[in-house]
Amino acid sequence: MSKSYKTIETCLVHAGEPHPRISGAVTTPIFQSATFEYENQASYHDIRYIRLNNTPNHVVLHHKLSALENGEAAVVTASGMAAITTALLSVLRPGDHILAQNCLYGGTHDFVTQYLKDFGVSYSFIDASDPDSWESRLHPKTRALYVEAMSNPLLEVPDLTAAVKFARAHGLVSMIDNTFATPVNFRPLDIGFDLALHSCTKYMNGHSDIVAGACIGSARLIEQVKHKLDHLGGSLDPHAAFLLERGLKTMALRVRCQNSSALQIARFFSEHDKVSSVNYPGLESHPQHKIAASLFTGFGGMLSLELKGGRDAAESFLNKIEIAINAPSLGGVETLVTRPASTSHAGMSPEDRRKLGISDGLIRISVGIEGTDDLIQDFSGALEG
Ligand SMILES: *Cc1c(COP(=O)(O)O)cnc(C)c1O
Repeated sequence: MSKSYKTIETCLVHAGEPHPRISGAVTTPIFQSATFEYENQASYHDIRYIRLNNTPNHVVLHHKLSALENGEAAVVTASGMAAITTALLSVLRPGDHILAQNCLYGGTHDFVTQYLKDFGVSYSFIDASDPDSWESRLHPKTRALYVEAMSNPLLEVPDLTAAVKFARAHGLVSMIDNTFATPVNFRPLDIGFDLALHSCTKYMNGHSDIVAGACIGSARLIEQVKHKLDHLGGSLDPHAAFLLERGLKTMALRVRCQNSSALQIARFFSEHDKVSSVNYPGLESHPQHKIAASLFTGFGGMLSLELKGGRDAAESFLNKIEIAINAPSLGGVETLVTRPASTSHAGMSPEDRRKLGISDGLIRISVGIEGTDDLIQDFSGALEG
């Protein structure tokens, strides 16, 4: 968090805001101008043009986002996938190899397994909660280690401290997708990660009304990512930048509410006789609960569960919910429920899903900011036959 503010709440509201305020405006106006007057910039990357991600709307976000996770710099992108793919292509060179957590976000999984080979990059998957097994996966040209703060949809928490130690010992760039944890609950650069990646579509914006992404890290790494992004073209539109800045201001309030509600909902499900298992890092029964409790200040708003009746019971549950919405995506103010085998992980073969523990009956819930009692009543009704 920015040294000038003691709390993340203040940082979210004030960090990076323009001083003096633009014409006295309390919020940053939208700069809907594709290009700006030439000011003798020496480098192509500094010429002010929307694709080069450097309008006043972008600059405010870069300062605010880097302050949130104690980075030296940040760059916003057109989507979370733009942040992830551009960061991977900035770090990796032909001939390189990457170690990646075996249960990645669907889009990242497909990019790593289907497209990295076109750039001459190979990969190996690792079991992120078994650090002793990582060394055997190293390759002479391994350049990066890629993990997620909490995996989707099983909410596994890698041994993140071991990941940083391992990356340092072997000279790897450590990369983490921190979307599920958010800077409110976890700041990866503080424990030594090199690059934090975000889908700002989710909790950062928090209102399910834009797509956006971000990379946060050292000035050197972020400059590499920005230069690549300038050519790949995944820049954020100024109007979306304005909405993201607005959404960020309330992130701490939203995420703390979601932490608390998700924990109560996870407890409700874990005590229900129609539920066979619940995955939530805040439950003592979660296999990585101790790691999560030592690193995170909250366990987040995501949980998943299996019903005793499998896929049919899951479909019936999804048809009966009334407040929660049956939709993919996550991190917004409204509670969303989905069956990953039919949405986020539909691109994976049924066999690969089974290997990763994603059954056809698994239900994933993104807890919103509605009243917890209403949500529990809704879920309770949907569980009754
Ligand atoms: C949604 C998501 C992404 C992709 O972000 P988009 O904004 O949809 O491109 C990447 N990682 C995680 C963990 C996500 O939840």
